[in-house]
Amino acid sequence: MSTSAPSAYRTAGELAAASTGLDDDTTPLARAAADTVLARQAAGQRPPLPRPERTRVMVVANQKGGVGKTTTTVNVAAALAQLGQRVLVIDLDPQGNASTALGVAHQRGVPSTYDALVDGEPLADVTTASPDLPLLHVVPATIDLAGAEIELVSVVARENRLRRAIAGHALIGSAEAAGDDRYDFVFIDCPPSLGLLTLNALVAGAEMLIPIQAEYYALEGLGQLIETVEMVRAHLNPGLAISTILVTMYDARTRLASGVAQEVRSHFGDQVLRTSIPRSVRVSEAPSYGQTVMTYDPASPGALSYLEAAREIARKGAPR
Ligand code: ADP
Ligand code: MG
Repeated sequence: MSTSAPSAYRTAGELAAASTGLDDDTTPLARAAADTVLARQAAGQRPPLPRPERTRVMVVANQKGGVGKTTTTVNVAAALAQLGQRVLVIDLDPQGNASTALGVAHQRGVPSTYDALVDGEPLADVTTASPDLPLLHVVPATIDLAGAEIELVSVVARENRLRRAIAGHALIGSAEAAGDDRYDFVFIDCPPSLGLLTLNALVAGAEMLIPIQAEYYALEGLGQLIETVEMVRAHLNPGLAISTILVTMYDARTRLASGVAQEVRSHFGDQVLRTSIPRSVRVSEAPSYGQTVMTYDPASPGALSYLEAAREIARKGAPR
């Protein structure tokens, strides 16, 4: 039985169900089989994604906690890597949740974002490979990063530290300057605040990816984020664009979720990805296995949705 409210938003899982004529009455096994088939088709039949002309540096930010920043960072990054893109994730949250989800060590003493930001170590020297995906690299965050927020206050050009670290990386930049081994995407996973760490990301990036949780207070607090972005544009990084909004933890069975999604779209228009991410237990359990849902359960609706979102991001290209 379907209780879905009518909505312009469909998750990839719903699309999968619709296109196979399955609905909620189908057995989980049949549905899983259908998903697997679709996942294979998705991987096999579509043409490869074009590489961007220059590395796209995307800041994943929203000062609200628990909206899906980290989940979005690691899964979109993993999906793009599965699709053949070269991807670097910079964990900028002292909690190190992105590092955990990507299966890389981040205890004290591990070379990390802190060393690049505070001590000026080259970014390439604190980068590590992710265990599951050859095209995905990670700069882990250790708890030391919590101190950076304070330590940086007295440092010259304190809001420019990450920008400089990124600018100094030989594999970040245009095809001409950085060559074929260049990263296609850099994702910066921000902490849930608008402090000096997030500011460094906003100064370093060209684009923002803002995850919005499909819940009642979704748009509350966004005003503050937009104000900060405008301040950064006016004084520090004129090119910064809010290129991408992603609705996360979408529950298609509730009118509330579709209402929120509509509201987000009427507010942000084309910046909102057509794909939204469903609430799914597989997505939330993947990190406890040191994995993204993209490798933990690639045929699950959450993984298919992140794959589709990643495709959309790549196809849309960088904003002009
Ligand atoms: P943030 O980084 O913005 O604080 P997280 O990505 O850590 O948010 O997500 C907050 C919590 O919600 C985590 O426990 C995560 O596993 C869970 N979560 C995120 N996206 C989903 C989803 N699509 N379905 C189910 N749980 C999710
Ligand atoms: Mg987080």
